[in-house]
Amino acid sequence: MQTTSTQTIEEQVKHVQHYARTAVTAELDWRIAQLQQVKRMLIENENAFIQGLHQDLAKPKQEAWTTEIGYVLSEIKHTVKHLKKWMKPRPVSTPLVAQPAKSYIRPEPLGTVLIIGAWNYPIQLTLGPLVAAIAAGNCVVIKPSELAAHSSELLAKLIPQYLDNQGICVIEGAVDETTELLQQPFDHILYTGGEAVAKIVMSAAAKHLTPVTLELGGKSPCIVDSTADIEVAAARIAWSKWTNAGQTCVAPDYLIVERSQVDKLVDTLKAKISAFYGKSIETSPDYGRIINQAHYQRLTHYLTEQPVLVGGQVNPESRYIAPTIVVDPNPDSALMQEEIFGPILPIICIDQIAQAIPIIKQKPKPLALYLFTQDTELEHKVVSQTQSGNVCINDGMMFLANPSLPFGGVGNSGMGQYHGKTGFDTFSHLKSIMKRANWIDPVLRYPPFSKLKLGLIKRLL
Ligand code: NAD
Repeated sequence: MQTTSTQTIEEQVKHVQHYARTAVTAELDWRIAQLQQVKRMLIENENAFIQGLHQDLAKPKQEAWTTEIGYVLSEIKHTVKHLKKWMKPRPVSTPLVAQPAKSYIRPEPLGTVLIIGAWNYPIQLTLGPLVAAIAAGNCVVIKPSELAAHSSELLAKLIPQYLDNQGICVIEGAVDETTELLQQPFDHILYTGGEAVAKIVMSAAAKHLTPVTLELGGKSPCIVDSTADIEVAAARIAWSKWTNAGQTCVAPDYLIVERSQVDKLVDTLKAKISAFYGKSIETSPDYGRIINQAHYQRLTHYLTEQPVLVGGQVNPESRYIAPTIVVDPNPDSALMQEEIFGPILPIICIDQIAQAIPIIKQKPKPLALYLFTQDTELEHKVVSQTQSGNVCINDGMMFLANPSLPFGGVGNSGMGQYHGKTGFDTFSHLKSIMKRANWIDPVLRYPPFSKLKLGLIKRLL
C-alpha cells in the first residue's frame, strides 16, 4: 500500500482548509454534484470495489454490494432527495419575553472534517460519513484503514479522479500518518474503530477543541426468549453474525437464551449455517475470511479455552475460521470479556428471562442490543431498562437499512451519531438566529430596575 508522505500532510490539509474558507462547498449545487460523483464512482468501478473487498476480506460479491456499495448508494439517494429541505432554515417559536421576533436555526458547514475509517467495512465506513460531510457542505480529509489495503488504495486512486480535489482528499497510511493528521486543527473528526485508538483521537482533538464523533464497538448482546420464533430468529441471527465472518461492529457478540430453547436454537442455527454455506463452508464463495494474522491469532486463542459445540475448524493459511458456537462460556474468559469481532458465537443459558437484563448491565453499554420475542411486556422491559446505542427487535443488523434511524454508540460504544439527516446535522453547525422587530421596545429589561419591572418579568418568563 502507498502511504502519503507525512511531510506533505500538513500542506494538504491546509490546502483543503483554504478551500473551505471560499464557501464554494456551502452551495447546494456543489454538494449535489459531489454526491452524484460519489455515486458515479461507485457504479463505474463496481467491479474494482468488489475485487478490492475480496482481496481484503474475501467478501462475497453480493455481501460486498449490499453492505458496502449499495449501502452508500442508498445513503446518497436518500440524501440527494432530502438535502434541499435539510439545508433550509428551521423556524422555532419565540417566547413572549422576546417578542416581537422571529427565531430560526440555520445549518451551516463546519469547515474541514477528518474521517478516519476502519477496515471491516472499508468502503461503507469512509464513504458513508463522506456523504454526510459533503451534504453538510464541508471539505473532507479521508483516512481509510491501512488494514484493508486494497480498498484504501482504490479509494486513494479513484476519489481524486471523481471528486473536487480542492475540497476532498485521501491520506493513505497507518499510525504515523494518522498521528500527523491528528496534529492538524480540524473542525470535526469522525473516527470509526476500537476504544484504545479512540482515546488517542479524542486527546489529540482536545488540543484544538475539535469535536469528535466516535463510532466504536463492544459486546452487543442478543436475547432469545421462550416465545421467540426460533426458525426466523436463527436465520436472522446467523445472517447478522456470520456476514463478513463476524467482523461487524453490530454483529450479535453473544446470545442469552432461555435454557428450554437452547437445543432447538443450536440445531436451527446449525441448519442455517448449512443452508447458507453448504456442507464445505471453507470452499463456499459466500463466506469471508479474517482480515489478518493478528486478528486470526486473537480469535483462535479464544477457542483454546472453550468447549466448542459447533464449528471450530480453522485454517491459518487462508485465515479461515468456521462459524462457531460455544455454549455456556466461562464468564471470566477473554471470549466473554472482550469484543469478539469474529465468527464465534457464545451462548449464555439462563433459567429465567429475568436474568438477562442483569447480565447485560454488568458490561459496558453496547453498540447494539437484539431481542427475539413475541412478549411485548418483555420488549418494553428490555428497551426501558437497558442502555445501548441501538436496539432491534426480532432481527439483527437490519436496523441499519433505515437511514431515518440515527446510528451511534453510547458510553464505551461511542459518542455522536450519523446516517441520514442525523449525519447532516452532525457535520453542520446549527446556528441559532433571532431577528427582533423595532416597532416596539419595552423598557422592562433596561435599568433603572424596579420592583414593578422585576415583578412583570417574573410573570412573563
Ligand atoms: P483499525 O485498526 O482499522 O483502526 C481504525 C483507524 O485508526 C485506522 O484508520 C487506523 O489507521 C487508525 N489507527 C490505528 N492505530 C492508531 C494510532 N495508534 N493512532 C492513530 N490512529 C490509529 O480498526 P480497529 O480499531 O481494529 O476497528 C475495530 C473496532 O472498530 C471494533 O471495536 C469495532 O466494533 C469498531 N467498529 C465500529 C463501527 C461503528 O460504526 N460503530 C464500525 C466498524 C468497526
